[in-house]
Amino acid sequence: MLIIGPPGSGKGTQAERISAKLGIVAISTGDIFRANVKGETPLGVEAKKFMDNGDFVPDSVTNRMVRDRLAQDDVAAGFLLDGYPRTTAQVDELDDILGAANAKLDVVVQLTADDEELVTRLLGRARETGRSDDTETVIRHRLDLYREQTEVVVSRYAERGILAKVDGLGDMDEVTVRILDAINNS
Ligand code: AMP
Repeated sequence: MLIIGPPGSGKGTQAERISAKLGIVAISTGDIFRANVKGETPLGVEAKKFMDNGDFVPDSVTNRMVRDRLAQDDVAAGFLLDGYPRTTAQVDELDDILGAANAKLDVVVQLTADDEELVTRLLGRARETGRSDDTETVIRHRLDLYREQTEVVVSRYAERGILAKVDGLGDMDEVTVRILDAINNS
């Protein structure tokens, strides 16, 4: 399954919770990039330039990383991708990877929230964690990119009839319950 939502919608937190409940591995492309930045690997050095500006890491780099990750054994029981795909080229890549493995997506959960609430949340997170891509200008740019590039990704899955929209506002536990309900009803 996938979890898609704008920055600040709580997808990382919910991905952890939902994957634990379902007994499947959660794969966050943002977390993999951040680990590489921290470890100063070649991938991290490349990704950092884009991440600090709130831009997407190029599809070629991101797709290769996801392809490698999905080749590992722990995804056999199922997986939850958090933060991928974010562009239509990434949707095509994922279709290709899954097609070759004779696998298919069961459900795509979209977490929704309005921009002002997201900016407030992200500025709060910036104060707590010091994430270098959580300044207001960069936050607004990341939200714009989501609207420009990732909403069409969501539409693609809606056309396939596997999209479940979930209100991401409110209490974290309530959002988890909403997501689990949406999965069960899908
Ligand atoms: P996130 O933690 O999901 O907000 O991701 C943090 C940053 O990592 C993003 O702002 C992008 O720079 C990069 N990133 C994560 N996932 C992707 C992706 N699927 N495609 C391109 N860049 C990504």
